[in-house]
Amino acid sequence: MKPFQIVMEPLARIEQELKKCVKCGACRAHCPVFSVMGREPVSARGKIALARAALAGSIGLDSRTRSDMSKCLLCGRCVEKCANDVPTDLIVLAAREAVARKRGLTSFHKVVGLLLRNRGLMGKGALLASLLKPLLFRRVPAASGLRLRFPLPFVGGKRSVPALAAKPFLDRHPEIINGMPGRPRILFFVGCMTNFIYPEIGEAAVAVLKSLGCSLIIPEDQQCCGFPALSGGDTTTFLQLAEKNLAALERHRPDHVMTACASCGGAFHRMYPRLLAGRRPDLAERYRAFSDRFVDAAVLLEQLGFAPGGVRDRRNGRVAYHDPCHLRSRSITREPRALIAASPAVEFVEMKGADSCCGLGGTFNLYHYATSMEINAAKISAIRDAGVDTVATGCPGCMLQLADGLHRSGERVRVRHTLEILASTLNAR
Ligand code: SF4
Ligand code: SF4
Repeated sequence: MKPFQIVMEPLARIEQELKKCVKCGACRAHCPVFSVMGREPVSARGKIALARAALAGSIGLDSRTRSDMSKCLLCGRCVEKCANDVPTDLIVLAAREAVARKRGLTSFHKVVGLLLRNRGLMGKGALLASLLKPLLFRRVPAASGLRLRFPLPFVGGKRSVPALAAKPFLDRHPEIINGMPGRPRILFFVGCMTNFIYPEIGEAAVAVLKSLGCSLIIPEDQQCCGFPALSGGDTTTFLQLAEKNLAALERHRPDHVMTACASCGGAFHRMYPRLLAGRRPDLAERYRAFSDRFVDAAVLLEQLGFAPGGVRDRRNGRVAYHDPCHLRSRSITREPRALIAASPAVEFVEMKGADSCCGLGGTFNLYHYATSMEINAAKISAIRDAGVDTVATGCPGCMLQLADGLHRSGERVRVRHTLEILASTLNAR
């Protein structure tokens, strides 16, 4: 049995921030999970109260606490709305880590950690799943997703999932693609979902950066950002991945580190500085050398003066934009819209509730699929009301969730990454 202090150390680190909550409840009205479940313990205020009680020793880190702490999308909406700057997302992560110290990682997160620490294993697993596709899945008529033939752990038979890439993005390009002399050197942090599921996002990133004459660096030794491990309380894996990613950055010393995944960007901007400073000051120091170089793709493209072309692509049509939480919480809302709307070949429309959460929340969607889809339903209804052909977004995770919701509702709306839309205006792709 681990001593109480060791188990509670993640919460003890943020004790001062726990105390900043004045229990006003202003966050409750903005919490997507509370809006569906309506239970105080799953609201931001409720989770903070649970974390304080656990730290004080008045409740245990039992299965009920684990369950309540798992009911968080880490969307950051409560943080944006809190007048006292209470970082509920970080508090939830700390509580999940404390639970993992006390009770061990869940089976799911043990597997996640193993795969993330062994990139080769993850590649082999993806290849195997790709080969077994005909056996595991049936195609959904008139939709681009796949449906499982039978339920698997964490993946129910009703869910539609995208096909895994036959060849991961990182195996498709050389590590360095030279651009024009004097143009910026951009390191592209690909992220697991683009690598294994949506390599077309990566191809679009290459196309738009090449059109600007930039040099591209796609390090072959880059790892997962670590967010999936962190969300399950596996800080050890997170720190290992962070160290390897920083080593990849140091090897190339780029002008910018571009992310095309809102969650990876969120990890670099919010999780890395906080988590590294408290546990690995050496890594925190190394991170600081790059902290102002991490940039989302849409922001970078605007900074570099990217102008979309006028090539019409029948896969775009009328386009609305969905704000991923991990871009919205960093106030990256204007740039992707402005870029998409700048193409004369795209009809951009604003939809209601564009900035509401799609309900994915990483592993939240796996543990609480029904609630996740209840949250998603409002988004699907807004897309339907907007009467669009395509919904664009800046996060592969949101793409997966939106596509699932649209397929379930029978909507024939395409989901594309902002970069795919922009690249398609340059050439007939
Ligand atoms: S987290 Fe902020 S908004 Fe929510 S109850 Fe506490 S002080 Fe109020
Ligand atoms: S991060 Fe999102 S889901 Fe979690 S408590 Fe805050 S508002 Fe609710």
